[in-house]
Amino acid sequence: MTVVLNPATEEPLAELEAAGVEETDEAVAAARAAFPAWRAVAPADRARLLRRLATLVEEHYEELSRIESRNVGKPIAGARGEVGMVAQVFHFYAGAIDKFHGETIPVAGGVDMTFREPLGVVGLITPWNFPLNIASWKLGPALACGNTVVIKPAELTPLSTLRLGELALEAGIPDGVLNVVVGKGSVVGQRLIEHPDVAKIGFTGSTEVGQQVMRGAAATIKRVTLELGGKSANVVFADADVERAAASAPYAVFDNAGQDCCARSRILVEASVYDRFIDAFVDATGKVKVGDPEDDASEMGPLISAAHRETVASFVEDEPLFRGATPDGPGYWYPCTVVEASASDRIARDEVFGPVAAVIPFADEDEAVRIANDSAYGLSGSIWTRDGARALRVARAIDTGVLSINSNSSVRVSTPFGGFKQSGFGRELGMHALEGYSEVKNVFYSTD
Ligand code: NDP
Repeated sequence: MTVVLNPATEEPLAELEAAGVEETDEAVAAARAAFPAWRAVAPADRARLLRRLATLVEEHYEELSRIESRNVGKPIAGARGEVGMVAQVFHFYAGAIDKFHGETIPVAGGVDMTFREPLGVVGLITPWNFPLNIASWKLGPALACGNTVVIKPAELTPLSTLRLGELALEAGIPDGVLNVVVGKGSVVGQRLIEHPDVAKIGFTGSTEVGQQVMRGAAATIKRVTLELGGKSANVVFADADVERAAASAPYAVFDNAGQDCCARSRILVEASVYDRFIDAFVDATGKVKVGDPEDDASEMGPLISAAHRETVASFVEDEPLFRGATPDGPGYWYPCTVVEASASDRIARDEVFGPVAAVIPFADEDEAVRIANDSAYGLSGSIWTRDGARALRVARAIDTGVLSINSNSSVRVSTPFGGFKQSGFGRELGMHALEGYSEVKNVFYSTD
């Protein structure tokens, strides 16, 4: 039995039967049985079904937002934004189905053409930080390409994905095409990785489990997409609009209580404006509204669990430069915390996945790039400067998959998202995600 909690109140929201290997195998068998008919659905009809799902998400916008807010402890305003994105993702992939073309390639003696074939049954393993959003990033392209799916949400946060599964059926997506299995990663997730009838694993989570996914997938040569951790740098040059960069920086690391793989948790600041930046950044951090996730005005909620709070707290060894306030009473609260660090400190190297920002000074552009790249991760990051040439020079030099210039936003429905180095590989979102859920087939037709 899995007891699902509200991390803001520590009260149970639901009790669910945890699936085991047998239930996982049944879901894979159902997905396998549904595959031939689903791949044969005409593209326009598949598009119509995904559009209907998008519309149902819009119609259930407030309900889904409340489920997500309560289960993850995220402020309702943020949850609404995420559910809005889920609908957009399904609209996007509904529209993409008949625009993901093959090619004809000039060859001697005939016609050479490529097709995009679905993979078959795809296993999706999703985390607890953005449960519905991340589910949609994988489900949209997987279903659009004609695959069937078994999705395993994180045990801590399965409720929104379960509801989405119901809405998919209501939308007319046939039984067996989208199967949700709730259970432990070490049981259900592991079985999906090992299962000979699962063609691909789409995974978002820790680098450690990502390594297990890769190892396990080797036995059956499964395709793998991994979206793992990050330790992204927010690089502020002296020629930037420093006040604007400082006002924006708290939301780039404290949003979702820092439980965000794109969190810009290393803030690199050119030494000549360091003090000015720190003053403005601490001031802005003090204004982040931490409180009841159900309150429309809240900007930061609690962490996901007591165990995670302990992990986050273990990173702050000395008295920080700034520590914000948290509500009294139940809930896994942890305050917005700012520490000054050097690039070699643990806080500047490991992913905290909590609301802790490490601010690090740098001397010049070369040093900024060197520190930004001095990380096992390479997911996201920001560059703040008014010098256009420098912005592009630094953007090309930083080894991460997603960068923003004079902005801290990484994620858009139509643009590719994913990491370099140990942040994983494969791309989600945009047209690029379709490549990860299809196989290129090359056919030569002789005209002799
Ligand atoms: P995990 O990587 O353990 O969990 C992510 C998903 O993988 C969950 O659905 C989990 O299931 C599943 N899982 C766990 N073990 C296995 C396994 N052996 N085989 C297959 N699937 C498995 O992340 P945590 O929840 O433990 O978080 C730990 C850290 O990971 C965080 O502090 C953060 O640093 C990072 N993380 C990064 C995320 C990102 O967005 N890139 C998201 C989440 C975490 P279940 O939990 O139900 O057992």
